[in-house]
Amino acid sequence: MSKVEKDDFLKFLEVANETIKEKGKIYKFRCPLCGNEAEGSKNTYNGHLFAKCKNCDMQIIE
Ligand SMILES: [Zn+2]
Repeated sequence: MSKVEKDDFLKFLEVANETIKEKGKIYKFRCPLCGNEAEGSKNTYNGHLFAKCKNCDMQIIE
C-alpha cells in the first residue's frame, strides 16, 4: 500500500468511525475522498466495522 493510499484509507476510516456508532444500523455519510455518498455499518454480532464508497471503491472491513 502506498503512502497516499494509506492516508486516504485513514481519512475514510476516521469519518466512518465518527459516523457509525450503533451496531446493526446502516449509516450514510459523505466520503471524505470523493464527496459522494458512502455507507457503512457495525456488525451486531462482533462489532466489526464495514464501510464502503461505491464511487471511489474505498472499502473498510475491520
Ligand atoms: Zn468516495
